[in-house]
Amino acid sequence: MRVLLVAPPGAGKGTQGALIATHFGIPHIATGDLLRDHVARRTELGQAVQEHLDRGELVPDAVVLDMVRDAFIESRTSNGGGYVLDGMPRNMTQARALYEIGRSLEMTADVALHLKADDEELTRRLLARAALEGRSDDTEEVIRRRLALYHEVTHPIVDWYAERGILVSVDAVQPVQRVARQILTALEAMRPLIDHVPEHARRPIDLTSLGTAFGHA
Ligand code: ADP
Repeated sequence: MRVLLVAPPGAGKGTQGALIATHFGIPHIATGDLLRDHVARRTELGQAVQEHLDRGELVPDAVVLDMVRDAFIESRTSNGGGYVLDGMPRNMTQARALYEIGRSLEMTADVALHLKADDEELTRRLLARAALEGRSDDTEEVIRRRLALYHEVTHPIVDWYAERGILVSVDAVQPVQRVARQILTALEAMRPLIDHVPEHARRPIDLTSLGTAFGHA
């Protein structure tokens, strides 16, 4: 199973990414975590990207693309080539480049999972997380910038995946377990089709009104 997570900051990419990874026994590749690890270890790469992270800006495309190519190769050698990629692509250039990397390694994504949530809820969650984790980019001003950047350059990618037929959209403003159940049910339902139905013959799946349809009880 090969999954891309496309979601605004605070939507739960990290939490749901880890659950998907455990469920399918595949690596969880989180670009933000990899970058923060470089910063913490004060590597050359870490020193070069720290300011971008602190300001809530994107680090240069080439840096993350190289990191992800290495992680894909590692997954292919040790895990059969599955992955949950969390934090990339974040703009159209990355989306296209990632597709090329995927093609060259025969590891293009099976599913682009979009976690949907409104800015008010996202800000509330990020500020709550700030109180616990103290991440340098979880301040009110930087959160506003990260959300604006998401709307401007990341969200438009969602339509591209819808056109390719690999989009699954889920309402992320529900309890963690409910979001997880909807994601895993959708992915399990798709699993038998993945190797048999070509991308262009598939349709996007929109589960964003499931919560309302079945009530929140
Ligand atoms: P969030 O989605 O909550 O902002 P992440 O941990 O995914 O958190 O990312 C944190 C920061 O890492 C981003 O604000 C950005 O500076 C950097 N980053 C992560 N992934 C990418 C990427 N694919 N391209 C550019 N910058 C990235």
